[in-house]
Amino acid sequence: MNRKRSKNSECILPDLAMDGEGLCRDTQHYLFRTLGVPSAAPQSESVSGSVYTALGMALRDRLVERWNRTEEKRLATQGKRAFYLSLEFLLGRSLHNTLLNLELEEVAQSALSEQGWELAELAEKEADAGLGNGGLGRLAACFLDSCASLALPVTGYGIRYAYGMFRQEIRAGEQVEEPDHWLKNGYPWELKRPHRVRHIPYGGHTESYVDTAGRQRFRWVGTHDVLAVPYDIPIPGYANGVVNTLRLWRAAATDVFDLGEFNAGAYPEAVAAKNAAEHISMVLYPNDSSENGKELRLRQQYFLASASLQDVLADWVDLHGEDFSDFAAQHVFQLNDTHPSISVAELMRLLLDEHGLDWDAAWAITSNTMAYTNHTLLPEALERWPLRLFRQLLPRVLEIIYEINARFLREVARKNPGDSALLSRVSVIEEGPEPMVRMANLAVVGSFSVNGVAALHTELLRRELFHDFSQLWPQRFNNKTNGVTPRRWLQSANPELCKLISSKIGTAWQQDLAALQDLAPFADDSRFRKSWGKIRADNKERLLALIARQTGVQMIPGALLDTQVKRIHEYKRQLLNALHVVHLYDRIKRGDIADFTPRNVLFAGKAAPGYFMAKRIIRFINEIARTINGDPDTQGLLRVVFLPDYRVSLMEKICTGTDLSEQISTAGKEASGTGNMKFMMNGALTIGTLDGANIEIREAVGAEHFFLFGLNAEEVAHLRAQYQPQHFVDADMDLERVLHLLRSGYFNPYDFGLFDCLLDAVLSPYDPWMVLADFSSYKQKQQEVAELWRDQQEWLRFSIRNTAASGVFSSDRTIREYNDEIWHLTPLVAAGSSLG
Ligand SMILES: *Cc1c(COP(=O)(O)O)cnc(C)c1O
Repeated sequence: MNRKRSKNSECILPDLAMDGEGLCRDTQHYLFRTLGVPSAAPQSESVSGSVYTALGMALRDRLVERWNRTEEKRLATQGKRAFYLSLEFLLGRSLHNTLLNLELEEVAQSALSEQGWELAELAEKEADAGLGNGGLGRLAACFLDSCASLALPVTGYGIRYAYGMFRQEIRAGEQVEEPDHWLKNGYPWELKRPHRVRHIPYGGHTESYVDTAGRQRFRWVGTHDVLAVPYDIPIPGYANGVVNTLRLWRAAATDVFDLGEFNAGAYPEAVAAKNAAEHISMVLYPNDSSENGKELRLRQQYFLASASLQDVLADWVDLHGEDFSDFAAQHVFQLNDTHPSISVAELMRLLLDEHGLDWDAAWAITSNTMAYTNHTLLPEALERWPLRLFRQLLPRVLEIIYEINARFLREVARKNPGDSALLSRVSVIEEGPEPMVRMANLAVVGSFSVNGVAALHTELLRRELFHDFSQLWPQRFNNKTNGVTPRRWLQSANPELCKLISSKIGTAWQQDLAALQDLAPFADDSRFRKSWGKIRADNKERLLALIARQTGVQMIPGALLDTQVKRIHEYKRQLLNALHVVHLYDRIKRGDIADFTPRNVLFAGKAAPGYFMAKRIIRFINEIARTINGDPDTQGLLRVVFLPDYRVSLMEKICTGTDLSEQISTAGKEASGTGNMKFMMNGALTIGTLDGANIEIREAVGAEHFFLFGLNAEEVAHLRAQYQPQHFVDADMDLERVLHLLRSGYFNPYDFGLFDCLLDAVLSPYDPWMVLADFSSYKQKQQEVAELWRDQQEWLRFSIRNTAASGVFSSDRTIREYNDEIWHLTPLVAAGSSLG
C-alpha cells in the first residue's frame, strides 16, 4: 500500500524571537501560565526549579522550529540516513548546551539577570540525564552533538529509562547506591510522540504456513506484546540551524495485555499485571562491562532493536510502499557495542515475516546496512545469552539466528575444508552443556563494517579477539579513534579559556578544532602563559571550593591537582594511584620532604553495585584519605579526596581545574578512553601508559610533553606467563614499605584484614592487571611530574601545547571519518552555513 500523504497546512506562525526579551517573555509565559507559579511567589529553591523548567520550555519551542525545518529539508532531499542504536546515552544537562548551540548564551545571561535570575544558578537545577554508565554512553552523546553540528541526517535510538545511573553516596567510606529518579521534576527537553507507538512481541511460539504465492513462511504467534512509546529529544547542531532527533522508547502495556487470561472476576489483578510490561524501561543496568544472563536485559535489548527498526521501516513504507530494492542504499545502522546487535536478526525477521521478502533479499539488505562498533577486549564483557532463554523469550528470532549461522558456517566450511576447530570458534552458537548465543559473532557476521575505537584497540581486535573473522573478511575491519565534543567539553565548560584562545587565534577553531594548533607558538609568550595560568588557577580554585562544600576536605590552595576520575575498575588501576599516594605519605612520615611538591589527589567514580573489589577500592581510597588528611604532618603537603557521584555535570567542572590527568590502565585493556581527551583539551598534562588513545594523545602532543610509564601491551602479554609480583617488591624498598604499611592495618585500625583482599590481589602471580609490575616506573614518573610542576613556566608551556594539539580528539573528526568511510551521508547544509 503506497499511502499518498497530503501536505500539512502551511505554517503561518511568525518565527520566535531569538533575543533576550523574547526569551524572557516566553519563560514568564510558561512560568505563570503553564507551571502556575504566582508572580508574587517569594524566591525559593522550588521557584528557581520552576524558572529553569520554564526557560527549558521556551528554548524547546525554539528548538522545535528548527527541528521541523530540519525534517522538512531532509524530506525534500531524500538522502541516505544513519541511525545510532545504543542502550546508553549519557547526555548530562541540556540547558547550557542548547544556549551555546543556538548562540543564545550571552543574550540569555543578560536578559535573565535583569529579571533577577542567575543563569548559572538555574543551570544547577537541571538533573543530569544519566542514561549510561560511562565512556560508551557519553561517546553516544558526543556523537549526536557532532552529527548535528556537521548537519548529518543521523537519528539516535535508545531507551527512556525511568531510573538512570544510580546516585552514589559515600557513607562510612563505602559506596551506597540511591535510585536516580531524574524525571521527578519533569523534563522540558522532550516531546512525547504517542501516535508513533510500536508493538514489541515476546514469548509465544512459531508456526509455518504456505502463503498465497505457494511459498513457505513463518509467523510468531501467541506473543505477549508490549508497547514502545517514543519520546523525542532535540539535538541541536552548533550554530547551523540543524536539529536532529534522539528517540527514546518507553515501555507500556497494551490495552489487551493478558486480559483474556483472567476470568471476569479478576479484573483488578489483570490491570495490575499490566505493570510488568513497564518494567522493561524501568532501570539502566549499572554495569560498565556487560550484564550476562539477565532476562530483563535481553528484553531491553530486543525492545530497543525491534521498536527502532519497525520505526524506520514504517517511514520507508509510508514513502515507498513495499518496494525495498533501494532501502540498503538509503540506510545505515551503527550498533554501539553488541548491546543492540540483536538488530541483525530482528531486521531479518521484519523483512521476512512482516514485509514478505525472501531470505536472500532480506540478507542483502541487513548485511549491507548494519555496522558494528566494538568497545572492549575484556572477555567478561563479550555478551553471550543462554540459548534456552532466547528460545523462551524470542523463539522466532532464535530460528533466524540459527539460519544465519547455518548459511555462514556453510560458506566458511567451503572456503576452509576440514577445519572444524575454525567452525566452532566463529560459530554464532557456542556448543556446550549450556549452549549460548554469541552476540559479538552475530554482530560481525551481520555487519559490513566492524570498527575499534583507537588504533591499538583495533589492531588487537584484528590480531586477537576477531582474528578468525579478520582473516575471513579483512576489508570489513577498520579503526575510528574516539573523540569528544568541544562544545560541551571546552566551549561550555571553560568559557574564560575559550575567550583567551579566541583573542589570540580568532574563532576558526570553533568550526574546526584542528585550528587550535595555531596556539602552539603562544606557549613561548610569557604574557599569554600568565593569562593561561590565571584562568586555569581560577578554575581549580572553584573546583577546590566545590570539593570543600561537598566533602568538607580543604585541599591545599594552589597545589598540583592530580586527578583520576572514571568508573572504578581493576583494569583502570585506581589501586596503583592509591598505592603511590601511600608512598607519598610514607615519605612525609619518614621526613623525606626536602624536595616534596605539595599535591592534591582527587578520585571519583562509581563501582558496579555487584563488583566487590571495585567497592573495596573505594573504601581503601576513603580510608587512606581519612588517615592522611587527619595527620598534622601532611599539612600543606598532601591532601586526598574521594568526590562522590561522578557524572557528566561534575566532569565539566573537574576537567577545567585539573593539572595532571591519570590514565594508567594496564596496557592493552582500555579500548580508547575519552576522559583523557577532555583533560587534554582543557590543558591538563597526562601521566599514562601506552594504552588506548593515550598512544595517539602522546603522538599528537609530542613524547616530550607526555609522562609515559609502564609496560606496553606486548610486554604485558609476554610477562604474563612468568609474572612474579614479589620480584618487583624485592626490587623496590619504597614499594615494600607501602605494602608493609597496608599489611600492618595502619589504614584500618578498627577493621582488621579489611584490605587483605587488595593486597592478595596485587601480590598474586595471576594478577591480570599487573599493578606491582608498573609501580616503580609510575613512582619515578610521578617524581618527574613533581619536578616539572616546580617550574611553573615550563608546566604552562606543556599545558598550552596539550590544548593546541588536542584538535584531533574532537568527535567532529571522528564523525567525519565514520561518514567518509562507513555511512556516506550528504550533509543537509554546507559546512559553515545555516539552515533557515
Ligand atoms: C568521559 C566520561 C567517562 C569516560 O571516562 P574514561 O576516563 O574514558 O573512562 C565516564 N563517565 C563520565 C561521566 C564521563 O564524562
